[in-house]
Amino acid sequence: MKYVTKKKNREIWPDLEKSSWKSPDRITVSEWADGFRYLNPVTSAEPGKWKTFRTPYLKGIMDAFTDPYCEEITVMAASQVGKTEGMLNMLGYLIDQDPGPTLMVLPRESDAKSISYNRILPMIEGSEALKRHLPSLSDDITKLEYHLDRMILYFAGSNSPADLASRPIRYLFLDEVDKYPKFSGREADPIKLASERQKTFWNKKTVKVSTPTTREAYIYREYEKSDRSRYYVPCPHCGKYQVLMFSQIKWPKDERNPERVRNDALAWYECFYCKKHIKDHEKARILLSGRWVPEDADIDDKGKIHSDRSSAKHRGFSINSLYSPWLTWSDIASEFLRSKDYIELLMNFVNSWLAEVWEEKIEETSLDKVKSLSCDYDEGEVPDDCIVLTAGIDVQKDHFYFVIRGWGYYEESWLIHKGRVEYWDDIVDILFKTEYKKAGSNETLEVYMSCVDSGYRTDEVYAFTRKWHDRTKAIKGMEEIPGGRFYRASKIDINSRTGSTIKRGLVLWSLNVSQYKDKLNRLITSKDPKKWHIFKNPDEDYLEQLTSEHKVLIRNRNTGRAKEVWQKKKDALANHYLDAEVYALAAADIIRALNIRKDESVKVHKKIVEDEHSRHDWIRKREGRWI
Ligand SMILES: [Zn+2]
Repeated sequence: MKYVTKKKNREIWPDLEKSSWKSPDRITVSEWADGFRYLNPVTSAEPGKWKTFRTPYLKGIMDAFTDPYCEEITVMAASQVGKTEGMLNMLGYLIDQDPGPTLMVLPRESDAKSISYNRILPMIEGSEALKRHLPSLSDDITKLEYHLDRMILYFAGSNSPADLASRPIRYLFLDEVDKYPKFSGREADPIKLASERQKTFWNKKTVKVSTPTTREAYIYREYEKSDRSRYYVPCPHCGKYQVLMFSQIKWPKDERNPERVRNDALAWYECFYCKKHIKDHEKARILLSGRWVPEDADIDDKGKIHSDRSSAKHRGFSINSLYSPWLTWSDIASEFLRSKDYIELLMNFVNSWLAEVWEEKIEETSLDKVKSLSCDYDEGEVPDDCIVLTAGIDVQKDHFYFVIRGWGYYEESWLIHKGRVEYWDDIVDILFKTEYKKAGSNETLEVYMSCVDSGYRTDEVYAFTRKWHDRTKAIKGMEEIPGGRFYRASKIDINSRTGSTIKRGLVLWSLNVSQYKDKLNRLITSKDPKKWHIFKNPDEDYLEQLTSEHKVLIRNRNTGRAKEVWQKKKDALANHYLDAEVYALAAADIIRALNIRKDESVKVHKKIVEDEHSRHDWIRKREGRWI
């Protein structure tokens, strides 16, 4: 047997963990690579002897290959972290240490030929440990098939099913799986075809590697099925272990020039916990102390992992370009600045740099865009074109967020007042005891109608809206209302004796929040003319909350049907003002204050609004037939 001793490698990895499963005469892939792998000067940025400590996160990935409990390895990674080299180390290891028939699948046959000829053959020829397994006859090596001394290595393109479905194999490598061409329903799934060939091997292994594309594509779905490990590194200041995230890379707020950010190294990494700066030169050290932590496990401040299970059959690793030893924080910030305004580039940045799936943003409101809607009037002041005021109240556990909006002609509107208060009495003051003064006259307006969310503290909200029933409505957000309607009213007070609804009982208004968010977004983004206004100098908190959601395409796993839904953005903290704006818009809709025509005098508008309101009252007075 050609196993090597571990002595040398122990020097490289002084704190090398001894896992209980490892048989005494087996070495791991990382130990093998440190001992025997040489990087080709033609293809490598750092030619010469392989050093795992340069990319310490690859150690856990590579060594999963020598974990006898692990059958499947999924690597969802950025393009500049060395994932292909890690995969080649596994291949080198198996050729030398644990041979078996192997198939490597690439997107197309030309890719397969290219990796075979440009990467793998040079790797074998460049290492003494591998070179000795080459056949004496050169005919035994073709671009798509190597007959080595103890095994056969096949290469195939995912687009050639005949090559995928022939001989049995023990090891299967699937590289860049998200680039495999789409196959039609009538053809067989190339990945399934290839893995069928492993059936006869009890000790088979499958390695899947790719930069991600979308949530529906192969690598993300496989990663979801795995133990979903992420690489945690300790902050050099506070010692807290954390995953490196793009949102923690910071640079001067007003700096938007990608060249300057990169050339002057303006970016830094801000520790998620202590907010101190982690410098580029500190990265190598924190990477060395890093640990892979599965999603269902925890890591404490000493770097000890707490988990209920010892090892998973399917290990999954996700790693972004922030970990790359070849990139600085400023390189990454600069790439983002270069890409952010172009959808194709941004998509590439998200996939290939952040190693995240691209969520199709169908509608997007940015903070800057919304900020540009602020006009020259003060908070609390009512612009002259306002005809009626509505309000939205988002109810939280021990406080409220409110928004008051004034509506004019043709859906034009102005933010009048907004804030956070603690008590119901404050809400009463704002809604019913305050008169909002118009800028150019002595005319004042009161809040005509408001919507109060009843999702939280439902009984209190019902009591409040019962008391103020002519000027406020209890509402409930829904994902969908049959018939594609925006709202639906239903009586909820039941006569306990007869079981029928009470005539003058409380009405609960169900709102289709997705549709209202769509409408709100259309109003916010309306350009010519601008329809949606904010008073001058709105605070960041309001703007951030207002833009806290985006619309994404979600596919139902069972039915395969895609659906657009509004979702909180990954880095968003709160969305209460957005909800409050949605409710204020719904209130305007309910009293038909949207689309008031310009040829109607203010008096007429008021009449319309009042008529509309009394119509609801009138309906309320009748039996519950009106739903
Ligand atoms: Zn820290």
